[in-house]
Amino acid sequence: GKQEVDREVHSVCPYCGVGCQITYKIKDDRILYVDGREGPANLGRLCVKGRFGFDYVSSPQRLTKPLIRRDGIAKDAIADLDPANPLTHFREATWEEALDRAAAGLRAIRDADGGKALAGFGSAKGSNEEAYLFQKLVRTGFGSNNVDHCTRLCHASSVAALMETVGSGAVSAPFNDAEKADVILVIGANPTVNHPVAASFFKNAAKRGAKLIIIDPRGTAMRRYATWMVQHRPGSDVALINSMLQVIVAEGLVDRQYVEGYTEGYAALAESLGDFTPEAMAAISGVEPETVREVARAFATAKSAIIFWGMGLSQHIHGTDNARALISLALMTGQVGRPGTGLHPLRGQNNVQGASDAGLIPMVFPDYQPVSDPAVRARFEAMWGTELDPEPGLTVVEITDAVHRGVIRGMYIMGENPAMSDPNVSHARAALAKLDHLVVQDLFLTETAAFADVVLPASAWPEKDGTVTNTNRQVQRGRKALPLPGEARQDLWIIQEMARRLGLDWHYDGPAEAFAEMRRAMPSIAGISWERLERESCVTYPCHAEDEPGEAVIFTEGFPTKSGRGRFVPTAMVPPDERPDRDFPLVLTTGRVLEHWHTGAMTRRTRVLDAVEPEAAVEISPSDLERFGIDPGDRVRVVTRRGAIELRARFDSSLPEGMIFIPFCYAEAAANILTNDALDPFGKIAEVKYCAVRLEPA
Ligand code: SF4
Repeated sequence: GKQEVDREVHSVCPYCGVGCQITYKIKDDRILYVDGREGPANLGRLCVKGRFGFDYVSSPQRLTKPLIRRDGIAKDAIADLDPANPLTHFREATWEEALDRAAAGLRAIRDADGGKALAGFGSAKGSNEEAYLFQKLVRTGFGSNNVDHCTRLCHASSVAALMETVGSGAVSAPFNDAEKADVILVIGANPTVNHPVAASFFKNAAKRGAKLIIIDPRGTAMRRYATWMVQHRPGSDVALINSMLQVIVAEGLVDRQYVEGYTEGYAALAESLGDFTPEAMAAISGVEPETVREVARAFATAKSAIIFWGMGLSQHIHGTDNARALISLALMTGQVGRPGTGLHPLRGQNNVQGASDAGLIPMVFPDYQPVSDPAVRARFEAMWGTELDPEPGLTVVEITDAVHRGVIRGMYIMGENPAMSDPNVSHARAALAKLDHLVVQDLFLTETAAFADVVLPASAWPEKDGTVTNTNRQVQRGRKALPLPGEARQDLWIIQEMARRLGLDWHYDGPAEAFAEMRRAMPSIAGISWERLERESCVTYPCHAEDEPGEAVIFTEGFPTKSGRGRFVPTAMVPPDERPDRDFPLVLTTGRVLEHWHTGAMTRRTRVLDAVEPEAAVEISPSDLERFGIDPGDRVRVVTRRGAIELRARFDSSLPEGMIFIPFCYAEAAANILTNDALDPFGKIAEVKYCAVRLEPA
């Protein structure tokens, strides 16, 4: 039976964007187990990560004292650095010394070369309040907009397309609306693995009769519930979606009334689709014309149809075009703005929505207000009491390049692990090693912290109070359940101590005070008070007044664009940046596994989760296994133009011939050593989902 608990604390799961509400069951300041709570997103359900992924907080590898790099230890001497024993490369320091050193290094660069010589990466794993203060520190303390976070590797392209077409980057309806839909389209997403509780809603909808269309080059686990499992060729998304649009136009299935009432640019879009017949596109996408017709008709004629997409769509150099085409699909069929319809880019991290809303983005202040708009800037200058840089900052991959060029010399990284998560990670690691000054604030000596000059031991989610915003635009309250270990400190405290040493006079008493300032800066959450969150645990934005419930479904009467209309943007086909050839005959795609979270910093230090999925493996289709003479279980070497890794081969019959899959959570076989950092020109997202690769015996 379960042990007696002495306390219960209600909070939110720290992993994915579903935002399941949880209850920590605690005895003697230790989490014994976690229960699902009746939150609006999860209705008591949890997946394996939410249920078992909590003991990373008490890992013996937790950093409990500030660290300073030892004299004479080169930054790239990481090969013999053991995260369990960092004292070979670092020495312990007092907070006073570490903070002074951390800030002085940044200040010296700022004073010599200006604010643009510095950059900051915040985190979608921290709270909204931490994200808000971090971006404010970069903007007012460093003096530039060089602040970004992992949204750049996530839905940056989707957001670029959404802002351009419908005027808002967030989802238009909660994923739970799948239960009200007749047709559910899931494209470039693998929710069973990455958003498991959301997937349970899709599966239940299918069970009660909704038609489930899954489009993905790799057959996903949810295909058992699908009416159609469409496996198009990797990188052919625009060809496929545009051929669906072409069918809808040619067969007169466009919702004329909706298009006339609420949109603009339809004629140009319709004209652009002429060449995209399913027959012509079949050669590119590999999808039978009849299947395209069936799927397009099902979507267009549904009473209500909803679209979900993930990184499979967004992480391409044509990611913004992929999203534009999907948005056109929803607009021309009028499948938006009503319950059971809409556009839902499934958010990855638990707080990637909130961190973006709070302004951890180089081109916008909180609430997506452009830094280049003089009126907006004047408002923030008045509120923050300082002059602000009118020029948008650099994005994640651009910052890496700027370090290599010597333009950026110092960085402050809070809770991000670019040495694992960035595409073409050897290039990113070389940049980290090249920095004159790097401050990393984290729970563990991550692959990124290994390059730091100063490492500041931070607080884990169960150790702090704060809010996070899930994929449904639901702002939820996390509550402190555990004391901090050793001398680890609250992130909010650390950011402020850094801010003071950079010359800012900050005194936020705690997250409630930071949240109060956020509310004044962000019209979308004006109606959400800390007291209300305390009471209700969850409030959906936009919410403009305290007595409003918040809008679960948006775009009910037009769009927050200048004209009030949704805009069609035609798209052209752009081939992948690096295509297979004789030397690199296969396509590599990357992603996650159910048990591990992103770079593995947390879940690989969680006993149960690492026991369930302990080893890196490359998944290979049966025909490629045969073609290259590999047996499942063999060690293989995977090589691209950027590097090579070794890991075990696995059999996966859902993969098409010519495509392999590697999860990116394993430091010992880091998939991002292989990936391509070519960028989408609009969203500045890298083509992580496609590069040319070859297999060799290890
Ligand atoms: Fe946590 Fe996501 Fe799993 Fe819910 S579905 S328990 S939020 S990882």
